[in-house]
Amino acid sequence: MARDPRYDILFEPVRIGPLTARNRFYQVPHCNGFGYRDPSALAMLRRIKAEGGWAVVSTEQVEIHHTSEITPFIELRLWEEKDIPMLAHIADAIHDGGGLAAIELCYNGMNGPNLMSRAVPMGPAHLPIATFYADPVQARRMDLADIADLRRWHRVAVERARRAGFDIIYVYAAHGFGCMHHFLSRRYNDRTDEYGGSLANRARLLREITEDTKEAAGPDAAVAVRLTLDELVGEPGFTIEEARDVIGLMAELPDLWDLALGSWEEDSKTSRFGPEGAQEPFLAGIKQITTKPVVGVGRFTTPDTMARLVRQGVLDFIGAARPSIADPFLPRKIEEGRLDDIRECIGCNICVSGDFTQSPIRCTQNPSMGEEWRKGWHPERHRPRQSAARILVVGAGPAGLECAQALGKRGYEVALAEARRDLGGRVMLEAKLPGLSAWARVRDWRLLQLEKLGNVEIYRESLLAADDVLGMGFQRAVLATGATWRRDGVARFHTRPIPVAKAVFTPDDLMASRLPDAAEVLLYDDDHYYMGGVLAELLVKAGRQVTLMTPAPEVSTWTRATMEQAAIQRRLLELGVTLRTAEALTAWDGAEAEVACAYTGRRSRRAAPALVLVTARLPNEALGLELAQRRAEWQDAGLASVTAIGDALAPGTIAMATYAGRRYSEELDLPPRPDDRPDFRREIAELLPFV
Ligand code: ADP
Ligand code: SF4
Repeated sequence: MARDPRYDILFEPVRIGPLTARNRFYQVPHCNGFGYRDPSALAMLRRIKAEGGWAVVSTEQVEIHHTSEITPFIELRLWEEKDIPMLAHIADAIHDGGGLAAIELCYNGMNGPNLMSRAVPMGPAHLPIATFYADPVQARRMDLADIADLRRWHRVAVERARRAGFDIIYVYAAHGFGCMHHFLSRRYNDRTDEYGGSLANRARLLREITEDTKEAAGPDAAVAVRLTLDELVGEPGFTIEEARDVIGLMAELPDLWDLALGSWEEDSKTSRFGPEGAQEPFLAGIKQITTKPVVGVGRFTTPDTMARLVRQGVLDFIGAARPSIADPFLPRKIEEGRLDDIRECIGCNICVSGDFTQSPIRCTQNPSMGEEWRKGWHPERHRPRQSAARILVVGAGPAGLECAQALGKRGYEVALAEARRDLGGRVMLEAKLPGLSAWARVRDWRLLQLEKLGNVEIYRESLLAADDVLGMGFQRAVLATGATWRRDGVARFHTRPIPVAKAVFTPDDLMASRLPDAAEVLLYDDDHYYMGGVLAELLVKAGRQVTLMTPAPEVSTWTRATMEQAAIQRRLLELGVTLRTAEALTAWDGAEAEVACAYTGRRSRRAAPALVLVTARLPNEALGLELAQRRAEWQDAGLASVTAIGDALAPGTIAMATYAGRRYSEELDLPPRPDDRPDFRREIAELLPFV
């Protein structure tokens, strides 16, 4: 198919200093939980982005010196010469894919606790370090000799980055992560010397390091400055007016401006808390201050928005982290006129959770993300089928839909049976909850793919029993039958049932529009992800007075890993939800709740005319258990295997369900592994002698 001429503008080449980007698609730096621990997995991930059409592919932040490292986060390191080969491997991979390779050099300063190097962190002022974990570490105020050291370290890192093969070298002053950002902001910079006070003074370090970088990078490389547009903390934070002035002061110095907004939490808001293109008001007018190309982000997935932003002179490059994770081939798909093949990011930030949990990146929409090298999965290519087996997939939630479409692309003949009329399983239901409408994209993309496949039949309103499975003549059955929320209080705090009256409600009830009649509702959340907070919002919108109780010290505590916790707590407080943290429900008789302090166990009672339990789930395994009992009948039925996947095996995130679907498709016809080794590749450190 040909590309729509409306999008031609997105495929114009753009100059970046001495370089030419082949189009306007720019993968801005993003973390991935791989970093220095998993370099080949990381290199392959970047390479596939370049293959998918991104003109520029950037690394995540790269620590330039051991006096500023951000353990326990795992990023890249360029501390010494011996780090160069690892970085070169990544640059080479990006070049192999056809992209320009950008490296985000970073001196974290007072954002690096230095838990590994044990160096005393440095910043513009004597202040506690500004990390996510409130480590008990203070940074010391840099003197002029420290500033000279930093300039030298940065220059050396630029030279090393060039030797590693990078084309675009970043100076990082955004997200509150880079030292240059701390100098810019009056929030951190109280200096009275030439590096403090006026904006020109606070910007001095950024200017000097940018000048050093230009010089050290040489004539063949480009230099990018990544700047925060506004810290969004009011006075005395760095504001949009100051950002414009800084860009004015240094307008033509870098070869490119990459603009971010606020902290990382603000810049990478989930769809629950910010729409596509939320940064646009801040970006407006920047291009009038500089002639250099401008990159901005905004979880862009709509080509019309992208083309409009370029046409209106807001941006030169469409920056993307998450849209490039959800669909590494997004540019190619626009170029080839295949818009409905774009796997749109749903804005859930599961990808971000990889960084926060120091584990390999994963993505709800793109199950191959992070598995490109580890398992050899590709976001677009599927291995041809190895047999003529006919496969039955039971259940059309995220696991079943992904499994059916992936098997279909491999060429297998597939039947997908779903009990309901509507497809999508939990995604179809959860997308109707407050703030989660973008989650429907998990279903929509897969349905569109299935429509194009002639070899997958979909049977709606088909609740299958064991007799059906055995009578249909399939060689393989995949059970993606989902899970059911528990009604007995079992989750993390209580691992055995607690006494609760039958009238209790669960998320399944609320999602089926069965709400408690009572005006006051107690919602007990021992799940700790999004569901408790989202249902509290739903109940408030339905006119109920809600108390959210949780044994955790804060609501939705796991959403720290998706950078939503503060936003959720703020929203619930603003909605008037009463929050009772560090309290565990121990019993409910239909009128009163018995509650225990999560720390002391001290008991109390309070009125609770209605109760919603957001606790654990149980797999819907009845079909699987019956089929297992009737194992002796399989052979006559021609059935070789029955496999439960997704929530039907063990309830988890939607990302785990799509991964399980893809995994089944990838692995059903692999030869049995000869031993107990892991089913993914990994790298281990090279050992050095003891002395
Ligand atoms: P997952 O997240 O693992 O994909 P979901 O709960 O989202 O799980 O989806 C499970 C789907 O399976 C639901 O749409 C449900 O209606 C369907 N389902 C459950 N049992 C059966 C069955 N026996 N026959 C057909 N469909 C089923
Ligand atoms: Fe988007 Fe979620 Fe995938 Fe991240 S994990 S890229 S937010 S769909």
